[in-house]
Formats: sequence, C-alpha cells, structure tokens
Amino acid sequence: LNAASTLKVALSVPLDTLFDYLPPRDAPSPVPGQRVLVPFGRGRRCGVVMAAATATDMPPAKLKRVAEVLDAEPLFDGNDLDFLTWAARYYHHPLGEVVGAALPVRLRRGEAQVPLGEPGWALTAVGGALQPAQLSRAPRQAEILAWLTELGGRAPQSLLREALGECASALRGLRDKGYIAVVELPPEPGIPLQGAAPQLHHEQASAVQAVSEALGSFAGFLLEGVTGSGKTEVYLRLAEQVLARGQAVLLLVPEIGLTPQLVKRFARRLGDRLAVLHSGLGEREREVAWQRARLGLAPVVIGTRSAVFTPMPQLGLVLVDEEHDASFKQQEGFRYSARDLAVVRARRAGCPALLGSATPSLETLKNARDGRYRHLRLTERAGGARPPRLDLLDVRGQPLDAGLSPVLKRAIADTLAAGQQALVFLNRRGFAPVLSCYGCGWLSDCPRCDARQTLHARSGLLWCHHCGAQRRVPTTCPECGSTELHPLGAGTERLEQVLGEHFPEVPLVRIDRDATSRKGSLDKLLAEVGKGEPMILVGTQMLAKGHHFPDVTLVGVLDVDGGLFGADFRAAERMAQLILQVAGRAGRGEKPGRVLIQTRYPEHPLLQTLVGQGYDAFAEAALAERREATWPPYSFQALLRAEATDAEWPQAFLSEVYALAAPHAGDVQLWGPVPAPMQRRAGRYRAHLLLQSGERAPLHTLIGWLLPQIRALKLARKVRWSLDVDPLDLY
Ligand code: ADP
Ligand code: ZN
Ligand code: ZN
Repeated sequence: LNAASTLKVALSVPLDTLFDYLPPRDAPSPVPGQRVLVPFGRGRRCGVVMAAATATDMPPAKLKRVAEVLDAEPLFDGNDLDFLTWAARYYHHPLGEVVGAALPVRLRRGEAQVPLGEPGWALTAVGGALQPAQLSRAPRQAEILAWLTELGGRAPQSLLREALGECASALRGLRDKGYIAVVELPPEPGIPLQGAAPQLHHEQASAVQAVSEALGSFAGFLLEGVTGSGKTEVYLRLAEQVLARGQAVLLLVPEIGLTPQLVKRFARRLGDRLAVLHSGLGEREREVAWQRARLGLAPVVIGTRSAVFTPMPQLGLVLVDEEHDASFKQQEGFRYSARDLAVVRARRAGCPALLGSATPSLETLKNARDGRYRHLRLTERAGGARPPRLDLLDVRGQPLDAGLSPVLKRAIADTLAAGQQALVFLNRRGFAPVLSCYGCGWLSDCPRCDARQTLHARSGLLWCHHCGAQRRVPTTCPECGSTELHPLGAGTERLEQVLGEHFPEVPLVRIDRDATSRKGSLDKLLAEVGKGEPMILVGTQMLAKGHHFPDVTLVGVLDVDGGLFGADFRAAERMAQLILQVAGRAGRGEKPGRVLIQTRYPEHPLLQTLVGQGYDAFAEAALAERREATWPPYSFQALLRAEATDAEWPQAFLSEVYALAAPHAGDVQLWGPVPAPMQRRAGRYRAHLLLQSGERAPLHTLIGWLLPQIRALKLARKVRWSLDVDPLDLY
C-alpha cells in the first residue's frame, strides 16, 4: 500500500486524533481544506481533510475510503488550517472539534454550499491610481488593468475571461499586490454610501497614523478611549485604508456590542463589502456571509466570538472592540478566547492587531506596559461632549426602597424635572433574588443547585438563573403552609415597579434579558428612549453596551459592593469596567452627565481610586494586587473541572489527577482539588483542580503530558470533565 495516498481527516468528535482514510476510488483525491463524507462507526460523517499522510498506523485492511468529496475547492487554505491546528494545540482541545467550530453549521453537517452571486473583480484605490507603465514587466496584468479601467473599475470574472482568455494567475498577481479585489456582481444591494466622514480630531489622527504605518506586518496596539471618544471612527478609517490596499479587515465585537447602529454605520461607509456574522442569523444567512468573507467578496467582516475563525484571504488588519468583554471567551466545549486568538491570527497573517476599549482588561494593559502592545489613547470625547462625573453615595443606614436611596430618588426627580432622562443600573433581573417565608424561614432554594430561585413576579415563576429550573410561585409556604411569603432584595422588575409608583407620570423603560427576549423588542425600546423625552431607564448590563443615550444625564448604579468582595479575583476588575461602561452612557450629547454609585463601603481603596483618579489609576492598583498575589496576568492558569451526579466522584477523580501530576509538576502549582464555589449545579456536584505557573511553557508541557493519562483513568468515564486554558472565571 502506498502510504502517501492516505488522507488525515478531522472529524468533529471528542477524540484527540485525526482519522485516516483512503481517497475515493473514482474521483480525484481531495486536498487539505476540502470537506469529505467518510464512513464512521455505523454511519457517515462530514470531516475536513487536514493533510495527505505519508504514514498510517492503521492496518491496511481496516482503512476505509472517503465516500464523497463535498467541495469543489478547499474551504480553508494552508494558513487557515495551521491556525486551527495551533488553536487546538494551545487549548489542548481535539482538532476535529476545533475545525468543526470554525465551520458554519450547515457545512459542518455536510450539506452542500449555498450558492452565491457571480464573482467579479474591481480596481482598488491603489490599483486605480496606477500608471500603465508601472506594470510594464507584467503585460498580462497591465492588460487586465486597462480593461477594468475601461469598464468603469469593475467587471464580472466571466466577462474578463471571455475578453482575455484564461487569466487566473494574472488576476491573482494583481490581487496579491493589492491592485484589484474580488467583488460580487451584480446585484449591488442599494445601501446609500455616506462618504462624508468627520474630520478626525488630533488624537484620532495620530492613532490612525500609528496603525497605518504598521500595516503590512504584525504589531499589537491597545486603543484606550473613553466611551464616545471616537474609537469606532478610528476603526472605520483604518478599514478604509486597508481596503484601499486590497486587503481585508476582521472586526470582532462583543455579543451585545453588535448593534444595528454599528452595522449600519459600517455599511454606510463601506457598502456591500461588509459581511456580518453573529448567532442571530439564520443558518443559510450565516453561511452566505461566511462564504462571501472566505471568497474575498466581503473583505470586511464584523462578527462575534467565532468569527475569529472565518477564512479571509489577504487579511490586513484585525480589530477587537471592547476587548475586555467576557463574551469573547467561549465557556463550553472548545473553550477559547477570541480576543487572544485574534492577536495570534494577526501575528500569523503578518498584520496589525488593534484592541480597543474604554476599560482595557488587566491582561491587555500589562501587555501594553511590557511594551508588547503600543498604547494609543483617546482622552477626549469626540464632538466635545464632556465626560460624566462620578460620585460615591454612602448608603449606610439609609432606608432603601428596592435598593434606591433617598438621595438617588431626589436626583432622579431633579433630572426628570429638567426634562432629561435618568438611567438606573442594577445587574440583577427578575423581581427579587429570593422568596422567603416569615413563618418558618423557608427560602426558595433551587432543588438542583446550591443557589436560590429568583422570583419573577410578572410571569409568576420561581426561576433558577443557573440551571433554568422553574416552578410556579407557591401561594403558601411549602414547609409550614404560612401565607407570609415575602420577596427579599430587589431585581430590575421590582425596581421598575417601585420607580413606577414613585414617578407615575413618567414613562419607564426596562431593558434586560426578560424584557427583550422577543425579537425586535429591544429595538422598539431603544427607539422609545431615542425620542429624548424625560423618562427612566432601568436595566442590567444589557444597558452598558454599545448604545448611545444622548439624553441620559443621570446614571444611578445600585449594588456594586458584591464586586468589592467577590470570591473571584477578577470581581473588582469586572465591577470597575461595568461601572464605567454604564457611566459612559450618560451625557453623550451636549449635556454633561452625572453618575451616582451607591455603596456601603465608600472608603474602599479600589472604589476610591476608581472614582477619584479614574480607570488607569484603578488598573494600576489592581495590577499591583495581582502581582502581589501572583494572579494572572502575573501567572498562567488552567482549570480542570469535573462534575457528576455522585457527590464523591469529581473530587476522587481530581485527586487521582493530582496524584498523577504532582511528581511531574515542577514549577507548576497544583491547587485543589476543591469543591466549586457553587458545588451543586443542575443536579451535579462539581470540583476543580487549578494549575498555575509563572511561565506558560511548563504549564503547557505538563498539560500535554497529563491529558492522555487522564483519559486513561477509569473515573474519567464516570465524571464529566473539561480543561479550561486561561480560564476567565473560576466557577
Ligand atoms: P466610541 O466608539 O469610542 O464610543 P464613536 O466613534 O462611536 O466613539 O464616536 C462617538 C460619536 O462621536 C459618534 O456619534 C461619532 O459619529 C462622533 N464622532 C467620532 N469622531 C468624530 C470626529 N472626529 N468629529 C466629530 N464627531 C465625531
Ligand atoms: Zn414557612
Ligand atoms: Zn438551579
């Protein structure tokens, strides 16, 4: 048997191996990046060819053949496959699942590609400015360029081929030089282009200049700018420059950050060269966007987390907006950080990566301080809007009404009286976090979790936010039969009710996951706010992202104290980011804003620093704390999680892992196993083993050695376990 004729195929199964197959009998052998249908177990599966193998461990008699080749051309090129392989190795995750995660669902399932419009070619700005003499050494390319110019700058590929004969390699040559780019022809979706961009202010201009000077090779940038300082305008300007070079731009945004406003803004400036990728799209829609990006028809991709894997030819710039946002971390299955992968991708593509945020993560700030990223700043708000003022409101000993202090209520009244809007932020949805019985002390515990079920009064449900378990609100206590059932604490629903009683004549808009679960309802609510009439907005962190509320001049922040003493070492960082993100909604118009932060710990040093000196000083102090404690970013972590319906197994399993690892740990510290902070969740008991090291390399070496041993453990089949490299939370 000729070993070189076997194919290594990635299948989306949780096994850390590629699978060997023989090429199909009567079709040309597929190349890496093409999808194939292969026999697997009793059925067939769709996989992606990763390589033509030179050797196989399989006995020849057991080798099966590829049943069908699904794509005429590879979906991933060599660089794409290398990137996916790198990611699988870094996160110690089965390559087949990583490749699967990079494919749109339909393609992953093995379905045929959705057809697109006709491809064509268009001159880029650089190509359009070219003199024919500059291409005298490449007459074929000069010929194409002349044709395109004559045809008004763009032509379908079929027409070029008809006119000029086979010209694929000359076209590629022109594309690689950035003189022409692929476009989709016709139909031109009629987005009216709005060319007029604002004149960049000084800081924006120097940020744009710094990045554009770096185009063409890897460089890391942090763009730190308060909300409203014009970061998006910087992205747009850079995108235009990169497009003019005939290259492509990838912009990652947080889940909630992908607002219609943002997309419209890009579409108006960049037209149909844009593809948008997010989970709200239908499967076909999403695949079309992905294909347009892959073929270079849409050289600008805006997308959430998984868009980081979109194959894009000629990638020239990678942007990550709100880079601190937790939604860039995939928290189950293939656990990866899209923000971190974005930087890796830029490095491999040889192009700059720009991470933007008003409140950069401590990881990114440290990279900037260590000189790995260049730190660009936008300190002023674009258009001259003034930043909001932050004040702490000491609520010790104050009578609170659904969490509202008298001072905050008065401030809301004043704001409304001045004809402006007020926003009250409480990061807890539902009516109250717990229902209790005054007769016997019964609490609305979740039967499946170490947690309470939240009271949702409007829907009449007790609802666990951790496992989703629901039951109807009882009218009498399940324990003692008393009717004295009372909610404890407040969520946004209760806050809305109390504010409604207080300000009966003012419209109230609540924005949280419950109020916006129906499609289009968020847009409706935002339109309501956009009218600018006096009103009160109540909401969770959904309010904190992306939206512009120019008429909000007062922001009240309830309940920040959890962030000061949270079990997680990242709690304070998250609290600070959230406060500033919410604060950033205020006073974006001509009117200055004010932010009142309620706390029972007004002298807490981190709060003081944040409010008195701003985020930079806060981050400085928080980084010092992290260094002291050798927490990330001053160390590297991986978390082994295990869970089972049996209370003993997770700990027993992790103890065995510990025993395996300890003699080989070297510089890697092993912490645990310990029960997870919420030990029981959705009926399963959970435990952790944390691996931490001052350097990445020994940690990854240990994990690489450990994983096969773990898989061989008997208990590994009795528990559900997972590995999280660079975990974002330790729950
Ligand atoms: P960010 O992304 O930092 O929140 P944006 O880019 O959205 O900021 O800018 C905030 C607002 O200011 C937007 O309405 C934008 O159109 C406007 N803007 C941005 N840059 C300028 C500028 N140089 N001159 C005038 N207005 C600007
Ligand atoms: Zn009771
Ligand atoms: Zn639960």
